[in-house]
Amino acid sequence: MSESSEPSGEKFQNPVAGFGVTFKAMFKKRLTEQYPETQKVTAPRFHGRHQLNRHPDGLEKCVGCELCAWACPADAIYVEGADNTDEERYSPGERYGRVYQINYARCILCGLCIEACPTRALTMTNEFELANTTRESLIYTKDELLAGLEEGMVDSPHAIFPGMDEQDYYRGLVTESAPGTERQVAVSKGETDKEVDA
Ligand code: SF4
Ligand code: SF4
Repeated sequence: MSESSEPSGEKFQNPVAGFGVTFKAMFKKRLTEQYPETQKVTAPRFHGRHQLNRHPDGLEKCVGCELCAWACPADAIYVEGADNTDEERYSPGERYGRVYQINYARCILCGLCIEACPTRALTMTNEFELANTTRESLIYTKDELLAGLEEGMVDSPHAIFPGMDEQDYYRGLVTESAPGTERQVAVSKGETDKEVDA
C-alpha cells in the first residue's frame, strides 16, 4: 500500500483551516430567506415568465413570424402562424400566431427571444414560480402566455380600428378599441388543449 505524499504538518493544518471557515461563519449575520411565506422582490428587469402582449384595443402584437423560435438556443419555443381574415382577426396585419408554446423544461430564461421579436409582442415578466411536477404542465400555451385585458381592450378576435392600418398601430395612433367593437366568433382551431410539440 502506497503512503500519502502529504507532509504530516499539512495533514494537521488542513482540517484546522476547514473548521476555521465554519467557525467564522458562526458569527456572520444569517441570510435565511423566509420563502415562500415572504415573497422575494426581484430586480425590475428580472427575466421571468414570458408574456404575449396586446395592442391598446386588445388585438395581439404577435404576427407569427417565428423569429423568437429561431433565436432560441434551447429550442424551447414552438410557433404556428396563420392568416387573419376580416371575419376572424387576431392582429392588425396579415398574420397572427395561431399556436404559441414555450417549454419551461428547456427555457434557460436568457431573453434572446424577446430581443429577436420585431413587434415587442414577446416580453418577460418578473414571475419566477414556474416549477411543476409534470413535463406537460411546463409547456405554456398561448392561452397562458397572452396578456390579460386592460381598460379599453376587447378580447381578440375582433375588427381592426376603423380607418387605421397596421402601421398606425405601431405609430401609437390606436389607444383603445373603437366604440361598438365586439369580439368575433372564433372558427379556426385554437389552442384549447395542450399540444406537446415543443
Ligand atoms: S428565454 Fe432564451 S431559452 Fe427561453 S425561450 Fe427565450 S430564447 Fe429560448
Ligand atoms: S412573439 Fe414576436 S418573434 Fe415570436 S412569432 Fe410573435 S411576433 Fe414573431
